[in-house]
Amino acid sequence: MEKTSFETLLDRYNVFFLDSYGVIKNHGGLIEGMDRTIQRIIDLGKRYVVLTNDASRNQEQLAESYHKLGLYNVKPEDFVSSGMMAKNFLQAKIKQGIVTYLGTDNASLYISEAGREAVSISKLQPENYHEVSAMVFLDDEGFDWNIDINKTLNLLRFHNIPVIVANTDMIYPKSNREINMAAGSVSRLLENILGRSFIKFGKPDSQMFMYGFDIVNKYQITAKSDILMVGDTLHTDILGGNKFGLATALALTGNTSETEAAFLIRSSNIIPDYLCDSAGIG
Ligand SMILES: [Mg+2]
Repeated sequence: MEKTSFETLLDRYNVFFLDSYGVIKNHGGLIEGMDRTIQRIIDLGKRYVVLTNDASRNQEQLAESYHKLGLYNVKPEDFVSSGMMAKNFLQAKIKQGIVTYLGTDNASLYISEAGREAVSISKLQPENYHEVSAMVFLDDEGFDWNIDINKTLNLLRFHNIPVIVANTDMIYPKSNREINMAAGSVSRLLENILGRSFIKFGKPDSQMFMYGFDIVNKYQITAKSDILMVGDTLHTDILGGNKFGLATALALTGNTSETEAAFLIRSSNIIPDYLCDSAGIG
């Protein structure tokens, strides 16, 4: 597959759905040239929305984390996160009781903003299990993997409550050489043990694409053919974008390396419209 320069794509499309980790930033900070890409989109009078499978921070905290990277123009409303989708679900469907979670205290904002009482599974006592009306997988940090995953297992064994996975990602790169298991891996482990399927939010499912599409259409009538989805992961960003009917670009700055891209595209049959070294420009 031939590579396309991202400059060309900036001219060709009017709206850019950008994945966050692996496209805009990574473990080392800002990906080179992404400050210029975002500025160029703004200068051209075009639009971008960051579509991220992240339930560890709310929109304000996401924007703050971008400001720390020097991306001062990024606003809270520029983000669509899988945590927001989980929050909407809780708001609409869970009307009472405690919502317990695996994740950091920051992540629990998605529960409290939905109007529910959030109690970390690590602070939940077995005698209160009957008060729990839902359980949410938010993040891979903020709990003891040994103790609290077993607690979750025991809670769900006897209580048939809705279980929501707010970040379905299995892994994330921790450094150039190492990966870590993400919340999606923990939830799959428990699904396997319990023999049930949880409710999942995040790419490749369509909710976030729909939400982003609604945002840009509130601002200006936009056809799907005007939008480019840019991501570093075939199974989430590219598959989700393709299914939603958007053009897709795989950026080789994250989960998919240049050496394995051709093989992974062929073996998964998830085919991006474009392949770019990076979404950052010079
Ligand atoms: Mg990514």
